[in-house]
Amino acid sequence: MGWRAGRFATEPTEGCSKLAAMTSSVPEIVPVTEVHPLPDGEVRLLGAVRQVTGAMTRVDSGGRRLLVDCGVAQGREEMAFPEAARDAEALVLTHGHLDHIGHVPTLLEGGWDGPIYGTQATLEIAKLSLEDSLGMQGLRDNEIERFLARFRQLSRPVPYGERASVLGLDLTLHEAGHILGSASAEIASAASRVIVSGDLGRPDSPILRDPNTEWARGRAVDVVVMESTYGSREHAHTHDDIERELEAILKDAIARKAKVLVPAFAIGRTQTLLYFLDSLVEARRIPEVPVMIDTPMGLAVTKTYKRFRRLYDKESLAKLARGDDPLDFADLFAVERGRDSRKLHDVEGPMVIIAGSGMCTGGRILGHLREGLPSPNTTVLFVGYQAEGTPGRRIQEAAKRGGKVRVDGEEVLVRARVATLRGLSAHADRKELRAWLASIPGVRRVALHHGDVEAQTSFAAWASRRAD
Ligand SMILES: [Zn+2]
Repeated sequence: MGWRAGRFATEPTEGCSKLAAMTSSVPEIVPVTEVHPLPDGEVRLLGAVRQVTGAMTRVDSGGRRLLVDCGVAQGREEMAFPEAARDAEALVLTHGHLDHIGHVPTLLEGGWDGPIYGTQATLEIAKLSLEDSLGMQGLRDNEIERFLARFRQLSRPVPYGERASVLGLDLTLHEAGHILGSASAEIASAASRVIVSGDLGRPDSPILRDPNTEWARGRAVDVVVMESTYGSREHAHTHDDIERELEAILKDAIARKAKVLVPAFAIGRTQTLLYFLDSLVEARRIPEVPVMIDTPMGLAVTKTYKRFRRLYDKESLAKLARGDDPLDFADLFAVERGRDSRKLHDVEGPMVIIAGSGMCTGGRILGHLREGLPSPNTTVLFVGYQAEGTPGRRIQEAAKRGGKVRVDGEEVLVRARVATLRGLSAHADRKELRAWLASIPGVRRVALHHGDVEAQTSFAAWASRRAD
């Protein structure tokens, strides 16, 4: 199936049967546009329109108003809370990352009290994530507790693949393969059908099942709202590449009796890293070395992954059946308390310490970096993209040109080895995005969001050009 850009999305195809018209229709891929018409309403992008973060989409159909995601802008991106969100009658969460859920407290603060739908794993991870974020914003414990109680009360878990009736609309959540619990939301009224991709993971990602590609046929999809984070790029690294690189970095560090400091996001990235470490340990490709998970949030999310292990992919389920927990191994230790984390500052390597936050903007990694960066006996291992202006990026730059960085209130000289493990993306690249889109039959219009303008326009042109 192919598509062309620039053709009017709902152009009628004369002289064909309804089904033939549907299967031969060519969707228009529309970047950076906020409003997309439906036969009985509209889809309005309230956030992540010309940027990556702040996903929030209102679907008005069948006379009802649904909000899909309620995210905040992150890093240097900005976004005011859109008032149109407050008119929604129900909220659907695609997954538990803050750029999809961070504005839920703002919504509830205004007195909104509609039901909140999501997979059970997403609702659990969202709770952990919002609790952490409200704590960072300085809210008192009783205020956080009050919010969490409301959130729990409004939560309505929906299992994958089951049709739920929401305000008289049909809601189905499909696997999105991005983090545990992540889903694409399909919303159907009597007259229209909409699919919101949520964040789409890569096929064959560790632990997670692949994004869904089995869709009900027989009805056209009026609008697909689709993320486009990697709309202009293709991932070059395979699992084997990642394992080989990680193996080499760790062997080098262990031979030097170095401490390996890994700044990692708690949701998704920490678990992916544990998976690769477990594979190397089980295959005896690295010498024994203690690995500390020094992030309360990372520990809590890892426990949630284990509680929902029924959602793992075949490979991880097979590991479990063989008695190998893909997120655990003999030398893995949990560091629960802050004072134990500080004690690690004085313990000699070799040792791996995984701590938040992923871009070194806060969390326990700061203390480890302050102590470790001045020593050539430290390896800092980045496992994710470091945005401009973040301490993580400054450390990468200081490692290249030499010099000092400010960490945890102190200027420290960077003498540590700084490495970056590439290829651990949780987002589909442009080929994978296009393949996902091609799996949906009868798409009339594609609304791109959740990508910078370059990624969106480039994907629209590239995916259209490669038609036929
Ligand atoms: Zn995400």
